[in-house]
Amino acid sequence: MRILIISDIHSNLEALEACLAAAPAYDRVFNLGDIVGYGANPNEVTVRSRELGTVFVRGNHDKACSGVSSLDGFNPIAGLAALWTRERLKPEHLDFLRELPMGPIEPIEGVQCVHGSPRDEDEYLLIPGDAYQQLMQARAPLTFFGHTHVQCGYLYALGSKSGRQVVPVYSSKKAADNVTLELEEGAAYLINPGSIGQPRDGDPRAAFALYDTEAHAVTFHRVPYDIAAAQEKIFAAGLPERLAIRLEEGR
Ligand code: ZN
Repeated sequence: MRILIISDIHSNLEALEACLAAAPAYDRVFNLGDIVGYGANPNEVTVRSRELGTVFVRGNHDKACSGVSSLDGFNPIAGLAALWTRERLKPEHLDFLRELPMGPIEPIEGVQCVHGSPRDEDEYLLIPGDAYQQLMQARAPLTFFGHTHVQCGYLYALGSKSGRQVVPVYSSKKAADNVTLELEEGAAYLINPGSIGQPRDGDPRAAFALYDTEAHAVTFHRVPYDIAAAQEKIFAAGLPERLAIRLEEGR
C-alpha cells in the first residue's frame, strides 16, 4: 500500500492542488492536521481534504478556527487569521473540523499519526533531544508528525554499536528532490512530511511524503506551486500581509 502523508495545508489551495497533481500513485491519504488557518481558501481546502480520505488528526489551528480551543497561545497574526477563518467557514466545515480526532491515532498497525507529538498534540518537536523522549516511549515503530512545518526524519536505533541513540536521518536543508529513506527493521522513526501550505524550513516549495508499506520506505517530496496566486488571495482577503510574504521565504 502507498500512503500519501500530508500536513499543515493551512488553507493554501494552490499548494495543495500542486502537490496532488505531482504526487505519484497512492492508495490512501493520512492527514496530520492544520487543514485551515493562515491562507485564503479554508472552505475549498476543507472540501478537498475530505474528498481525499478519512484519516485525520486535528491540529491546533483546526481547533482554534472551529472554536474547540481559545486563541490563547496564538500570536496576534495567527489569532487574526483564525478569527477571519472562523467567520468564513461554512457550518458543515466548522462541524467537520470540530469533530476531528485528537492524536495519536493508529490507522494501520505499526503506524501512528499525531499533529505535534505522541504525548502532546500541541508540542513542537524541533531538535533531536525532543525526538529522543518521544522515541523512547514510542508505541509504534513509525510515527508521522507535523506542526513544525519542517520536513525531517529521526531514527531511534536500538542496540547499535554506540548504544541507543537518536539520529537525524533526513533534513530538508540538505535535500535534493524526492529523497527516499529506506526504513530499517527493528528501528523506530519519527517522520515529518513538512508543510504543504506554509513551509518553514527555508524551502518555499510545498512539502509532503509518500510511505510505501511494501518497500518499507518513505519518500520526501517538494513541489513548486503558484506562490504569487496564493499571496494575491491573502492580500485581497485583508489577511495580515506577513502571511503572504513568508510563503516566498519559506520561513
Ligand atoms: Zn501548522
